[in-house]
Amino acid sequence: MKDIRDAILADAPAEELAALPIPQTYRAAFVRRSDTGMFEGMESWEKDPRQSIQIDEVPLPELAPDEALVAVMASSINFNTVWTSIFEPLPTFGFLNRLGRESYWGKRHDLDYHIIGSDGSGVVLQTGSGVRNWKTGDKVSIHCNYVDDQDPTSHDDSMKGANQRIWGFETNFGGLADLTVVKANQLMPKPTHLTWEESAVNALCASTSFRMLVSDNASAMKQGDTVLIWGATGGLGGYAVQLVLNGGGVPVGVVSSPEKAELLNRIGCKAVIDRKAENFQFWSDPHTQDESEWRRFGKRIRELVGEDPDIVFEHPGRQTMGASVFAAKRGGTIVTCAATSGYMIEYDNRHLWMKLKRIVSSHFANYQEAWAMNRLIDRGAIQPILSESFALEDVGEATRQVHQNKHEGKLGVLCLSPEEGLGIQDAEKRARIGEDKITMFRS
Ligand code: NAP
Repeated sequence: MKDIRDAILADAPAEELAALPIPQTYRAAFVRRSDTGMFEGMESWEKDPRQSIQIDEVPLPELAPDEALVAVMASSINFNTVWTSIFEPLPTFGFLNRLGRESYWGKRHDLDYHIIGSDGSGVVLQTGSGVRNWKTGDKVSIHCNYVDDQDPTSHDDSMKGANQRIWGFETNFGGLADLTVVKANQLMPKPTHLTWEESAVNALCASTSFRMLVSDNASAMKQGDTVLIWGATGGLGGYAVQLVLNGGGVPVGVVSSPEKAELLNRIGCKAVIDRKAENFQFWSDPHTQDESEWRRFGKRIRELVGEDPDIVFEHPGRQTMGASVFAAKRGGTIVTCAATSGYMIEYDNRHLWMKLKRIVSSHFANYQEAWAMNRLIDRGAIQPILSESFALEDVGEATRQVHQNKHEGKLGVLCLSPEEGLGIQDAEKRARIGEDKITMFRS
């Protein structure tokens, strides 16, 4: 692996890279099937990803004809890394069992360990016999939409494909490793002005926010729309704020500390609600919501921007959905892609139907949406929200920080890249876009 890494760091020509032997084992972060019961009886917040995530050598899988083998320079922690590591809401081995029943190639995934990670940047080492658009030596960022292109249901919007999956969550061989096998249609060009770790943190969260806000498949924001964004300095929110500003909208960001509020101001989001400082308590007990708190919240938004939000960008779920449905403008849209605080949702349906609001669901992004988002990043219109990088050995600790909501933006992970700051192909473009803008989430 050292020879491969040295060749990439020296920017060796593709022929040289192609001539290097591929190791038959590689370093990876994974959870074990035998550990799925380890946190039984514990509260969610007590479950420590450092106990369940292992870093060790794993065997290299065979490469399918439509796949590429990628040397991973960097990856990132996503909230699905948290879900897999605490085995909630279900152990992810069930996904691997089902994929294993589908085909010869699917069977490779059904193992007693699950290599996690749904983001990555790196260099293509090998391609399967059916791959046309990518070759050894290409520098890539990887998105996580794993689609069966022989399934007709994938061909309108691939997110509606009957067996659409998320790589490194519902499939094995994820990106938190030195090597990964991905479908060739998960590859996108690496933004040329970014480092490996800056290129590795974007695809999952940025593309999800793009579909939720920009795409016709979800809320299709217009210029001037006011958008309420929960977790506005988190993984999804940090991109959502930028997309709203970029599209001529008015973001209202909700966060939970003065430091996060200050970061939002620096990005250009002037309307900020610190939910902790203002002590919003939407639930008076675990079964009862407090409508007066919804009203106080709605009033606060009006004080800040003079109107109700056209769009509410939802993902915390049970804790906030009642307030989100209440706060949206008459005729407005609540767009949701997640339920971090609980998926059994309660809201007052009268506020939905009487005021002609709609709840729209969204999930990751199809290839075209992911590519469109990657293009915005490559053009410097949207910045990476990397706040800190960790070594692959410390994936457990980085995942714990995301689980405990101790992070801002995205946490990167250095895989084959030995240090931060490497991989910039176009330094002039980087200077033109501005170092300060590109690194605005660095702590
Ligand atoms: P993240 O980086 O942890 O950010 C989420 C933010 O939400 C937190 O920083 C926190 O911000 C806020 N938050 C958390 N719990 C909250 C609560 N009870 N009430 C109000 N705000 C709360 O996570 P992420 O990457 O943005 O992901 C968020 C969720 O979306 C996760 O559940 C993830 O699995 C899901 N997701 C789904 C998709 C998809 O394709 N469907 C894609 C990406 C992520 P403050 O504390 O500052 O308010």
